[in-house]
Amino acid sequence: MKVTLIPVTPFQQNCSIVVCETTGRAAVVDPGGEVERIISAVEQLHVTVDKVLLTHGHLDHCGGAKALADHYGVEIHGPHAEDAFWIDQLPAQSKRFGFGDAQAFTPDRWLQEGDSVQFGDETMEVYHCPGHTPGHVIFFSRANRLALVGDVLFAGSIGRTDFPRGDHSDLVRSVRDKLWPLGDDVTFVPGHGPTSTFGHERRTNPFVADRMNA
Ligand SMILES: [Zn+2]
Ligand SMILES: [Zn+2]
Repeated sequence: MKVTLIPVTPFQQNCSIVVCETTGRAAVVDPGGEVERIISAVEQLHVTVDKVLLTHGHLDHCGGAKALADHYGVEIHGPHAEDAFWIDQLPAQSKRFGFGDAQAFTPDRWLQEGDSVQFGDETMEVYHCPGHTPGHVIFFSRANRLALVGDVLFAGSIGRTDFPRGDHSDLVRSVRDKLWPLGDDVTFVPGHGPTSTFGHERRTNPFVADRMNA
């Protein structure tokens, strides 16, 4: 599996193109906007987009989902249904933040804990990680030791919880109970900023390091 990051929107959100190298099939995770840039990156990679995957319902992660899914004629999978109230607000939010015209949509498939998503020969496990938003999910490739975690965890930080239905203790529990068990060796792509590993964050992250447990 190969990953290409394209920071999109004024929030520099890490849209990821994940590619099954055996089949050339790809999924686009969190296309928040700048759909033309994402399409030209896909063209340069010479891959076929199978589906659009979403970690959560925030504008900078799914503002371009409908336009991109329509362009390729593919389905949108995710996030968890608890984020429907965020997706419903997309058109209003995109006006407010000057993002152009994000379209509302209903995902073809809501995801939940224990689900998996496929593209080509690759499978990613789905974990429900509420806290930043109530319907946030993360994607984990066990074979590639790689997780796409949206705004749950960042290098040196964690997601904001001051939004409607955000919850700090839920978020910390999501990181400790869902992410850490996947393994210290797992590299993760956060929604914003540089990649890191779970092991490094367990040692150093001021919000969720193991020593903060004491
Ligand atoms: Zn977010
Ligand atoms: Zn974000």
